[in-house]
Amino acid sequence: MIVALAGGVGAAKFLQGLVRAIDPAEITVIVNTGDDITLYGLHISPDLDSVTYTLADANDSDRGWGLAHETFRCLEHLARYPVPSWFQLGDGDLATHLFRTSRLAEGARLSEVTAEIAEAWGVGARILPMTDDKVTTRVVIEEAGTGRGMDLHFQEYFVERQAQDPVREINYEGVEVADPAPGVIDAIESADGIILCPSNPVASIGPILAIDGIREALQQFSNKVVAISPLIRDAPVKGPADRMMPAAGLEVSAAGIADAYRDFIHTLVIDFADESKVPEIEALEVEAAPAQTLMRGVPQAKALAKTVLRLLEP
Ligand code: GDP
Repeated sequence: MIVALAGGVGAAKFLQGLVRAIDPAEITVIVNTGDDITLYGLHISPDLDSVTYTLADANDSDRGWGLAHETFRCLEHLARYPVPSWFQLGDGDLATHLFRTSRLAEGARLSEVTAEIAEAWGVGARILPMTDDKVTTRVVIEEAGTGRGMDLHFQEYFVERQAQDPVREINYEGVEVADPAPGVIDAIESADGIILCPSNPVASIGPILAIDGIREALQQFSNKVVAISPLIRDAPVKGPADRMMPAAGLEVSAAGIADAYRDFIHTLVIDFADESKVPEIEALEVEAAPAQTLMRGVPQAKALAKTVLRLLEP
């Protein structure tokens, strides 16, 4: 069994390769839910949905998020009313949120609904939310002009304000009382290998690691944990990792990624373009494995998955 820790889009791109490199039934994906948000009474889990849609090959790879062939009629009509309309909710996507919300209202756990959604999409890998409890990534930004601190939901920072504001602080609200979802610790303990997908270390992997017991479980098995850097040439391929990492005390580089995970990974896969960082990474007692990490499509993702799997061989 291979376990992958995942955020949304960057992780999903890699996982599309992983399910082609080994039998999907041998893969468990533990997904961040710190980005989850309730809008119009609907429970939205962006990272769970990105992973599910992508593994079902139903994602829009050009736009980079959501479903292919999506329409936005409902959103257009919502704009008529005094409700926020900045979150891009597609009509097809809404069906998932309606189903999830109604099942949660019936008393189902998020992990149960996640499995039902994955099955409905024909996904062969097992998808687990990091927790069934409510954990919310909050970003304290510095408001332009006033310099005042503002405490925002991650989606308000990322989607509504397009990650433009300087970030002061990131908090995972509710994490102190959250437990790992059923199956999470078991999966880590029984895994043959554990992969940290190329995801934002602060917004995507950080919340998973902050859940009670997960980081500690990984530390026990550090000989079988490999991470993939989401940064190439000291910059994210996409998204705000470069704007968030300094607020978490991390340098924006492959070495900064190694620093974030140094207590529980044995190898960090970095891009060939970052080979000059190898001594810095190895000084942190993390092996560095240069590879082609830019995934323009499924073939590159599959090649990267094979490289990582080789590193996990005993
Ligand atoms: P999000 O929650 O949807 O932002 O998803 P993730 O955290 O999983 O993905 C965002 C991260 O993926 C960013 O930090 C990107 O730099 C990284 N990423 C996206 N595409 C690639 C790629 O092709 N190669 C690598 N190495 N990283 C990538």
